[in-house]
Amino acid sequence: MAAGLLSSGDEDLSPDNVKRHLSTRFVGQAFHYFPSVTSTMDVARALAVGGAPEGSVVLAEEQRQGRGRLGRAWLSPPGGNLTLSIILRPTLRELSRLTMVASLAVVQAIRQVATQEAAIKWPNDVLISGRKICGLLVDSQLQGEAVEWAVVGIGLNVNMEPAFFPEIADSATSLYRELGRPVERLPVLIALLASMEDYYVALRLGKPIQREWARRLETVGKSVVAREGNRVVEGVAEAVDDEGHLLVRRSDGTLVHLVAGEATLRRV
Ligand code: ATP
Repeated sequence: MAAGLLSSGDEDLSPDNVKRHLSTRFVGQAFHYFPSVTSTMDVARALAVGGAPEGSVVLAEEQRQGRGRLGRAWLSPPGGNLTLSIILRPTLRELSRLTMVASLAVVQAIRQVATQEAAIKWPNDVLISGRKICGLLVDSQLQGEAVEWAVVGIGLNVNMEPAFFPEIADSATSLYRELGRPVERLPVLIALLASMEDYYVALRLGKPIQREWARRLETVGKSVVAREGNRVVEGVAEAVDDEGHLLVRRSDGTLVHLVAGEATLRRV
């Protein structure tokens, strides 16, 4: 058993078994399973470029170079968590809302399978009791105004014990840590893929998912320090707009719009 892992990790997440349980129309219907990859994002990107259908999923037990946004490392013991990437083909307008889709889907799956209420930390983390249980990222390729492909990466901590990883021991949690028992990954995965499809279809139908996302955000009302490229913005997170930008009010009264793909936040 890998260090930091609390279940045997020998559940059957093979494509046949996953597909037997899937209730979706397209998300996960093409399912690529790997024991070990550099990163599911790399594999999914190559598949997307090669024309893989919308909803294709790449799941790996181990990522040798798992990463979060802006090249940061994503830590996950082999076989313990869910690390996956989903290929989508949204419009440009929908692309800017994919982080909303994915974070709402994770919150819903956690509620359904583990009866835990999670919150969203702007722009791309899902938290339980203030600790990060899931990281998300979106990668995409544009051709002018057209989106050639988008890939949503999800790292959801299921059976890892964050205490084994000093870098994140205090800031991370897992379903195991919250529930105090190992959790079967297959039902979590099935619920997650179904929720992804539900929220993505809602987005495509023009439903205002940003309202639900905004209600789930724990960031609004808090004092934050945001870093966006070289600029540092300090103030109170006042609201989010329809695009998902965070509006931060500085002490001099000016309002700054932060873009989800580019900013990172620290609490003060
Ligand atoms: P932050 O998490 O500091 O708000 P971010 O949202 O930009 O920043 P990501 O790029 O989404 O961060 O994720 C990478 C960061 O997440 C790492 O720098 C590390 O602090 C943390 N991390 C890495 N692995 C895990 C994990 N399994 N669970 C929770 N947090 C993790």
